[in-house]
Amino acid sequence: MKGFNVMDEVEDITTLFADESEAEVELIQSSKAQTENSRTLRWKNGQCVLAVPTSSMLNPSFDLSLCRALLKREGFQIPVAEFEAPLEVALDVPSVRRYLLFNSALFQLIMAPIIYIVIWCAGFSTLHLFVTDYWLLCLSVSLVSVILTTAILVIFYCSNKEINMNIDVRLIQVNERLSRHKLLVGVADWMQNCKGTLQLFIVYWDIAHCVKALTETLEERSFVEDAAQKRLQKRMSHLLLVAEAMTFDSVVLGSSVNEGSDEETPLLVNNEETASSTSTSQREDTKLTSNYSLVPHRLLPVEAKALQLLLTYGAVYVKLLMSQRLPNSTQHLLRRRNHCTAASLCLCQYVKTKVLHS
Ligand SMILES: [Zn+2]
Repeated sequence: MKGFNVMDEVEDITTLFADESEAEVELIQSSKAQTENSRTLRWKNGQCVLAVPTSSMLNPSFDLSLCRALLKREGFQIPVAEFEAPLEVALDVPSVRRYLLFNSALFQLIMAPIIYIVIWCAGFSTLHLFVTDYWLLCLSVSLVSVILTTAILVIFYCSNKEINMNIDVRLIQVNERLSRHKLLVGVADWMQNCKGTLQLFIVYWDIAHCVKALTETLEERSFVEDAAQKRLQKRMSHLLLVAEAMTFDSVVLGSSVNEGSDEETPLLVNNEETASSTSTSQREDTKLTSNYSLVPHRLLPVEAKALQLLLTYGAVYVKLLMSQRLPNSTQHLLRRRNHCTAASLCLCQYVKTKVLHS
């Protein structure tokens, strides 16, 4: 009888623990859902959660631990592995910092008079042999210099509105992780009161609605799949993700480790089919790099294709949204289907105009 009693007690304790753990799980789930709800109520798509300027204009870098702490204060608990680590890989590299400096709006402002003087001197030294009237020569050379300098600056300005291989493409993997926390990141830079404002922007964005809308559009076009795939290939063939390849041993090891863990596999890089068909490896000293095409593979499920397209253009969209340089949409229908009240174009609509529309 005693034995039965002990067993009964053990069973009681086990069920008690099971009940407690179930209750804990429920409590965690409900608190998580509450946090999600309060976040959704507080933030709207396209709203800037955080804007962090560079610590120095000459050596552009961002205080990422401070960013994470500020995000935590706003209710976004992001692990280091999903925030600082990928952002350091993307932006905290000497070559990227140099690029940020030489491509900044402030540097272009400094370069403008230098370009003007160089063109003026070259024009004057060439034409003074043919034009004898000094004032006519000065006037015409000045006019040509102004036109050429303006044209160069306009080219810089327009190229800044397009997806940038050195910044926006490097941020794709960061956005892949941050989109799980309903955030998107981008780097924007423009002049304000003769001061450059190079900043890291973190924007609230629930990507689920955009994925649904873009999936529907891709499904509508499935009857012309070949034409749509050709269009994607044409518009995105120049977009390559350069990644440091593993050595042969680690590739073999990595492939055996990754087997059966598809859910953990990053969407954009280790897509085996894409990698095997489009990667090219080059040996440079002992470093191996692989180029991964960002064109979604034709065999990918439509929803995965839509998500890949949205993540590819996420950083450039944040850049244009924050610097208010998004193309204007006058169409009433586009405005109605917009998932972002703060902008004229939603992320999914931006992707459609960039890669899907003829
Ligand atoms: Zn959308």
